[in-house]
Amino acid sequence: MLTTPAEAITHSKIYNVPPEDILFLDFSLCGVAVDFTYARVRFEFLPQNKPYFKTSFQRGVTKYFFAPPTNPNSPYRIEDGYLITKEEIIGEVKYLANDTCDSSYPRRGGTVLNLNPISKSQCHGCKFCHTLLQDTKDTDEDLRSESGLKRFVEDWLKRYKISDLANLNQVAIVTGCFESEQKLVEYLKMLKTMLDDYDFNGELFYYGSEITTKEALDDLKEIKPFALCLSLECFENRKVILRDIKKRVSIGDANKILERAVENGFRTNFSYILGIESLEAMKKIFEELFSYINRFPVINIFQIHHGQEKLRYSDAWKMNYYMKARKILEKIFKNTNMRPRPWENYRSLWYLNFDEEGLNDVRTP
Ligand code: SF4
Repeated sequence: MLTTPAEAITHSKIYNVPPEDILFLDFSLCGVAVDFTYARVRFEFLPQNKPYFKTSFQRGVTKYFFAPPTNPNSPYRIEDGYLITKEEIIGEVKYLANDTCDSSYPRRGGTVLNLNPISKSQCHGCKFCHTLLQDTKDTDEDLRSESGLKRFVEDWLKRYKISDLANLNQVAIVTGCFESEQKLVEYLKMLKTMLDDYDFNGELFYYGSEITTKEALDDLKEIKPFALCLSLECFENRKVILRDIKKRVSIGDANKILERAVENGFRTNFSYILGIESLEAMKKIFEELFSYINRFPVINIFQIHHGQEKLRYSDAWKMNYYMKARKILEKIFKNTNMRPRPWENYRSLWYLNFDEEGLNDVRTP
């Protein structure tokens, strides 16, 4: 999309967004050419002192984290520890690794712990999903049983040289594969009790679409604080795009689930993949669901992996689509305290600014 990295500055003046946001968005959409066969890679990125990274340096933001798809035809490539585009080095790449599907991983500088206890890598069916292509590292570790979880926590304490889990802000369960709402609720309650034994005071967060009934939502009230992200992902053609467990939830159901979650005192939002449908469709349902959430939605941009090209919406091949999406969403959320959180999304629509406001938080795992 960008012909040179410096073109991000021209775009930034047109759209009134930092050049960094344009450049990182372009990079995330194009993917990266690397000398590996992996479907995705992840790495820490240290920008060089270039005019298009001026805002970043002014704000003292010198580290980012990305997990893009690999793409041999991308104008961005990683070579000898640098990210290069159009023969210009734009920054340093550290800890380059295969982006495997892991059973656990940290976020926000180790203050958030993500758990994937039911092997997300074995979950298939959503057309935009990339777990099918990732290498699997989530099948061997037992995070389902209480004893397995305890072993995991003991290892985590050793790894971070800490004596308890009091420093964790959040433990997130990020899998939609329990196949039974009841089993999921029981698991969350067991996990919370176990974590409390290690002085965990943060929120327990569930990201998925398997909690749908009033009974389950009410049952979860005993977990405090509890956060729910309903993984909606798209609003149109849900029956075609989504796998069975997800497509069972209609937008009408989503209204009721989210409304009940907020009533129950949960921190509540939903997830959305931007780039597979029209902005009109996006706007309409965001305006509708806006009344039923109290936390900014997790909005991931759709990244193309091998064979998924046809899924990108025709307008979403152009930067203008993403800039318009920003303006629409910024307008909807302007007068609220709901904002994107840089640490929970490595393929975001926002990096340094939301409208005119700066986004500040840890960005690395
Ligand atoms: S529910 Fe869909 S998006 Fe989530 S892991 Fe399974 S196939 Fe992928």
